[in-house]
Amino acid sequence: MAFEGLADRLQNTIQKIKGKGKVSEQDVKEMTREVRLALLEADVNFKVVKDFVKKVKERAVGQEVMESLTPGQQVIKVVKEELTALMGGDESKIAVADRPPTVIMMVGLQGAGKTTTTGKLANLLRKKYNRNPLLVAGDVYRPAAIDQLETLGKQLNIPVYAEGTDANPVDIVNNAMEKAKEEHLDYVLIDTAGRLHVDNELMDELIQIKANVNPDEVFLVVDSMTGQDAVNVAESFNEQLDVTGVVLTKLDGDTRGGAALSIKAVTDKPIKFAGMGEKLDQLEVFHPERMASRILG
Ligand code: GDP
Repeated sequence: MAFEGLADRLQNTIQKIKGKGKVSEQDVKEMTREVRLALLEADVNFKVVKDFVKKVKERAVGQEVMESLTPGQQVIKVVKEELTALMGGDESKIAVADRPPTVIMMVGLQGAGKTTTTGKLANLLRKKYNRNPLLVAGDVYRPAAIDQLETLGKQLNIPVYAEGTDANPVDIVNNAMEKAKEEHLDYVLIDTAGRLHVDNELMDELIQIKANVNPDEVFLVVDSMTGQDAVNVAESFNEQLDVTGVVLTKLDGDTRGGAALSIKAVTDKPIKFAGMGEKLDQLEVFHPERMASRILG
């Protein structure tokens, strides 16, 4: 299960302090040392860990704990609040364009789960938000990617706009926008090309599509199983494309948690959704507080 090691270690650590009627600086020191190790072991970015521990330490030896009637529990509350803040604080909303259609551009490396997530998001938009999305096959390099999106569209009974592999992605997106307007579809979800690694050619194409369509959201899809690599990928995509949010996939796997806990702090972009399985209904709105509660038990 995701976060298992981290959850075990953090829960053990806070258990020790929980019932204490008095919390000394030494107690806080010991606790934060263990928290630090647990986070590093979960592959959380080094600098993120340092800042996090500093904040927890400052608050845990501060007035709010010392003057509390239940200092042990107050310390735990501090850890939970800081963990929540680390993952973005409040749950973030999905944009709605003033004039429909709302355009969402999906970007990410090959294998991250971009095409699957595009389908899942369309499904969520329809089921949860009562919207009518259009899926757009903007990855013209891999015929398999177009087929995959068309199959998803059939399964979900959601329209797919594709022009095969010979067309230019910018033209495809422009034509798709026309179709969405004509058919009164209120969301356009663009599945774009991915590569195995970040490269300039890919970025140039994505930048062109973005400049042309001026999307309301640019969602970066990253694989949570890849830990710090996911964070590095997020940094480079964000530098080039100024993404508006991150979708973290494969949180149903046994990810240690590093990506989930580092991405917001490193990129300052919120995690908006989490992929919780291969099925099309397994995409959830990401709630930082619930995630922190899950980790801390
Ligand atoms: P793309 O190359 O980025 O478009 O990736 P795909 O959408 O083809 O997904 C790659 C693989 O990851 C597929 O086998 C998906 O079923 C799988 N996948 C995507 N999201 C999730 C998820 O949240 N959980 C799990 N377990 N698998 C996922």
